[in-house]
Amino acid sequence: MNNPRRKFLKNSLLITGAIIAAPKAMGLTAKKIEVKRFSKKAKLRLSFRPYTLELKHVFTVASNSRTTTPVMLTEIEFDGIVGYGEASMPPYLGESQETVGKFLSKVDLSQFSDALDMENILQYVDTIDTYNTAAKASVDIALHDLAGKLMGQPWYHIWGYDPSKTPNTSFTIGMDTPDVVKQMTMEASPYKILKVKLGKGNDKEMIESVRAITNKPLYVDINQGWKDKQYALDMAHWLKEQGVLFVEQPMPKESVDDIAWLTANSPLPIIADEAVQRLSDLVKMREAYTGVNIKLMKCTGMREAHKMVEFAKAYNMKIMIGCMTETSCAVSAAAHLSPVADFADLDGPLLIKNDVFDGMKITDGKVTLSDRPGIGITKINDHQ
Ligand code: MG
Repeated sequence: MNNPRRKFLKNSLLITGAIIAAPKAMGLTAKKIEVKRFSKKAKLRLSFRPYTLELKHVFTVASNSRTTTPVMLTEIEFDGIVGYGEASMPPYLGESQETVGKFLSKVDLSQFSDALDMENILQYVDTIDTYNTAAKASVDIALHDLAGKLMGQPWYHIWGYDPSKTPNTSFTIGMDTPDVVKQMTMEASPYKILKVKLGKGNDKEMIESVRAITNKPLYVDINQGWKDKQYALDMAHWLKEQGVLFVEQPMPKESVDDIAWLTANSPLPIIADEAVQRLSDLVKMREAYTGVNIKLMKCTGMREAHKMVEFAKAYNMKIMIGCMTETSCAVSAAAHLSPVADFADLDGPLLIKNDVFDGMKITDGKVTLSDRPGIGITKINDHQ
C-alpha cells in the first residue's frame, strides 16, 4: 500500500541522514562553536561620570545658543567585559548631569546575572521613572555594547542590516550672520549634504548665504520655528526650488492639524523631530508627517529606536537617524541603524573638540561602520 505520509516521512529521514552524513563524506569536520562561559557570580555593574563637550562653533538653533554640551558617560561591566554608553543633555530637553546622575543612582543592575536578558533589563530601567530618556539611553547603549561584545558581533550584523547601505550624513549649519554661514559652508566641504537651521525670521538669507557657496542638496530644520501654516507651505515651495530635500519639524509639535495639512499639501517631505520622541508618539503621529527623525536620546536608546525603525518601515514612512551633540559613543550606537535609513544626520562628533572614543567614521561624506563587536568603539581619551 502506498501511504503518502509514510513516503514523506521516509524521504524526510533520508534527507536528514544525508545532511548529517555529508560533512564526513566530504572530508569536513564540524567547526567547534566556542560558547563563552561566565562565572556564575558575574553581576552587571553600572558606573557613570559627567563630562562636558566643547563645541567647535557657537551653536544656534531657533530656541537658544551654546558653546558646550553636558554629557554623562556610562559603563556596564560584566565578568571583566565593559560596555560603554552615553547620555547627551542639550539644555532645551530638560535633562542635566544632575537629573541623569540622580536617575542612574536608582538603577540597580546587580539583580540581573544574564547580560543578554536585555528586554527584561531595559524594561526595568524604563519603569524606574517616566521621563529621563537620555539617562535611560545611557544604560541601553552600554548594555548593547556589552551584549554585542559577548556575542562577538556588531549590532548591524545582529539586526541583519547591510553595512554597505549606510547613507551620506548631513552636516549641520547653525544660524548665524551671512559671513559666518558662508564660512561654515566652506568648512563643510567634505560633506555631501548640509542641514541648515531655519526658523528665526532670516530663512531666505540663511539659504542664500549657503547657496552663494555651494549647490549641494540641503535639508532644513525649523525646530518648530514657523507659526503660520500658509507661510510654511509657501516656504516649502520656495525651498524645493532651492534644492532642499525635506523640511524637519516646521511648526510647534502641538499644531498637529496644521502640520497634517502642510504634509498633505507640501511638495517636500515633512519630518517629525520634537513631535516624536518615542515609539508611542510615532504610532500617534504616523498620519501627520511623512517621516521621523529617530534619536537615541529621545527614545531611550537602541532597543526602542530599532522598534521605531521597523514600525516606520512597515508604515512606509521616511526614516532619518539623527543625534544630539554627542561623542562617538552614542553616535556610533545610532549609526548601526543607518543602513535602513533614508537620511542620516550623524555629525555629532564632528561638532566637538574633545571626543572620548573612536568609532563610526564619515568617509567621503558617507557613514562608515566599524566591524568591531558591540557598538564598535574604543576609548581614545582615557585621561579625560
Ligand atoms: Mg531637529
